[in-house]
Amino acid sequence: MQQLEREALSSVVDYTVHEDVAVVRIDNPPVNASSAEVRLGVMQGIQKVAAEPGIKAMVLIGTKNFVSGSDLKEFSITQLPEPELPAVISALEELEKPVVAALSGATLGGGLELALGCDYRIALAGGIVGLPETSLGMIPGAGGTQRVLRLLGPAQTISFVCGAQRHVLEMEQGHKLVDRVVSGDLLEEAIRFAREAHGKRIVLNEPVPADEPGAVEKAAAAAIAKSKGRPHIISAVGAIIAGTALDPVKALAHERAEFTRLRNGTEAGALRHQFFAQKSLAKAHRPPSEIYLQRVSIIGAGTMGMGIARAFAASGLQTTVFDANEQAARQALERVHADVQREQDKGRLSAAEAELIRENLLVVSDFAQLAGSQLYLEAVFEDMAVKQEVLADLESLADGAVLATNTSYLDINQMAQALKRPENLVGMHFFSPAFRTSVVEIVRADATSQHALDTVFAAGKLLRKTAVPAKVCDGFIGNRIYNAYRRQCELMLEEGALPYQIDRALTGFGFAMGPFAVADMSGLDIAWRMRRSKDGTRDARERYPSVADQLCEAGNFGQKTGSGWYTYAEGSYRGERSPKVEQLIIETSEAKGIERRSFTDQQILRRVLVSMANEASLVLADGIAERASDIDLMLVLGYGFPAYRGGISYWVANEPLEQLQREQAELAEASGYGFVSGDLGLLVK
Ligand code: NAD
Repeated sequence: MQQLEREALSSVVDYTVHEDVAVVRIDNPPVNASSAEVRLGVMQGIQKVAAEPGIKAMVLIGTKNFVSGSDLKEFSITQLPEPELPAVISALEELEKPVVAALSGATLGGGLELALGCDYRIALAGGIVGLPETSLGMIPGAGGTQRVLRLLGPAQTISFVCGAQRHVLEMEQGHKLVDRVVSGDLLEEAIRFAREAHGKRIVLNEPVPADEPGAVEKAAAAAIAKSKGRPHIISAVGAIIAGTALDPVKALAHERAEFTRLRNGTEAGALRHQFFAQKSLAKAHRPPSEIYLQRVSIIGAGTMGMGIARAFAASGLQTTVFDANEQAARQALERVHADVQREQDKGRLSAAEAELIRENLLVVSDFAQLAGSQLYLEAVFEDMAVKQEVLADLESLADGAVLATNTSYLDINQMAQALKRPENLVGMHFFSPAFRTSVVEIVRADATSQHALDTVFAAGKLLRKTAVPAKVCDGFIGNRIYNAYRRQCELMLEEGALPYQIDRALTGFGFAMGPFAVADMSGLDIAWRMRRSKDGTRDARERYPSVADQLCEAGNFGQKTGSGWYTYAEGSYRGERSPKVEQLIIETSEAKGIERRSFTDQQILRRVLVSMANEASLVLADGIAERASDIDLMLVLGYGFPAYRGGISYWVANEPLEQLQREQAELAEASGYGFVSGDLGLLVK
């Protein structure tokens, strides 16, 4: 196509004339997000097209992406800058000439709403369309619910909007949201399409297609149940159903009012906080592109080692596993194959994904066969001597390679003493099941080199996990904070609460599970062993909650033994209250001379959150975590803290600090000797 004169309409939108068709192009690097400058430029383009009699039609196009979504920073401003998106879309509809949206790459959120305000949509194959607003605690606010409703019908719109679904546009499939999918030169195709277009065709004037009887109710119930009743999902369903009964102007006004209300609410703010936490973390630890990972070796084929190996294999790395117990390793591999087959049969894994795991995952019987990897990760028993020996063997096998440890609690600095080159050792603390969880803690020891760090951050990226940097301390970021508030939960048992009450208070706040249900699931014996290993160093003046020890001494390790804090019927994961355990708790209080008192759920919750905030502030002050927002990511992605509450620093930021400090003082009083108070203000700086 010949070189045409480009006229700037705003700093990020330009205008070219192709005989009788005007092309308005959005060029807002790096991802072509929408912004006030984008809206202003498009508005100017519409006015220019209206004013030029020689122009018969307009094409609205992006660069790599059409528009990847809205600038989320704008959403934190109470009053959005003008022109707002609905005004731009109205101008598109009021323009008497047809407008063709030419979609490529990502057309998401406000981008899709803009495209739906055009008369026609033509898309480059492989592009994606979606309305992700609900994943950010909001609903679409510029007609997304109402226009999609007219193209997909109510039931499918509910699933599309509430599920924040992304549809990939392929040539051979029919897509109701676009008129044509093309390959080749999108601009040329769009201009041709615009010339052929038969006048205006405003989506909002189309009737709402009818669904099968019962389909809307089914879709609505499924969406609300899946979100566990989050207010924005109920609001999205409401806006879509309102659109089937109201005239479009009223339905649009309702949608906009709901969007604004939710956008300014704390849940959407919390989810944006999580989004920006991810962004600042990614910016601070972007692994250099020259790090090349092709092969990884894992030592230990237990729960963690095999889970981590499966994750690496699924990400396309050749993964070799060795275990001292060869038979156990073979059996572990068979279990992975069986799990993968089952997931493939159920449609949770595609044939290609399943094949990738099977092809890349190898168990070897000889330690020497581990050689040739860029990264060696040990997941053997949690024992300093065992780990030091394995690491020293690895160093001899692969001198100079990066070595990682999956230890949960051991001192990585001490571990490094077994090595000639301690700079090659770094912590890579995964969560179980490692092939499913979305976070990994990267632990930098005193000697860890930048190369070792870069390598494991690159591995984290390949695994598509959020890699949170930490330094060495007991429990690193996550388990240290978890242990601090779990201890408070156990102290509250002795003071008058019961396990079911504490779990209820925390799940009521939105935690995926309460700490006692979690302990029963993962096994009480792990923490028990850890407590025993610290018997020699514990200060006798500290309060020591002892019920968990008594449960373990009686062989009650949780689900796997049918009883722990709760009892479990044969084959069931649903814990029932245990009168025996509750009696034991009451007797323990008596034996310790503690007068039991009643706790409200709110008191329990606040004590947990304040203790979490206290430990988080210490973690920051000690330099174990780099940013308060990293701690929030850790808690949300690894410990079931509800994403829509943002994390502990977001919670603190929304509470009066003096009140929190008063509660912190009460906590110190209740905890007694050894309690260290942190500066809560650090979390909101
Ligand atoms: P596991 O007992 O299930 O597996 C350990 C495996 O290591 C066993 O198969 C054992 O045969 C093998 N092994 C032991 N010594 C070995 C040696 N010298 N050479 C080769 N193989 C050896 O344990 P796990 O739960 O998978 O935990 C492994 C590590 O991961 C521990 O450090 C643990 O603290 C950590 N971790 C566990 C979890 C969890 O939820 N289980 C979470 C995070 C981290």
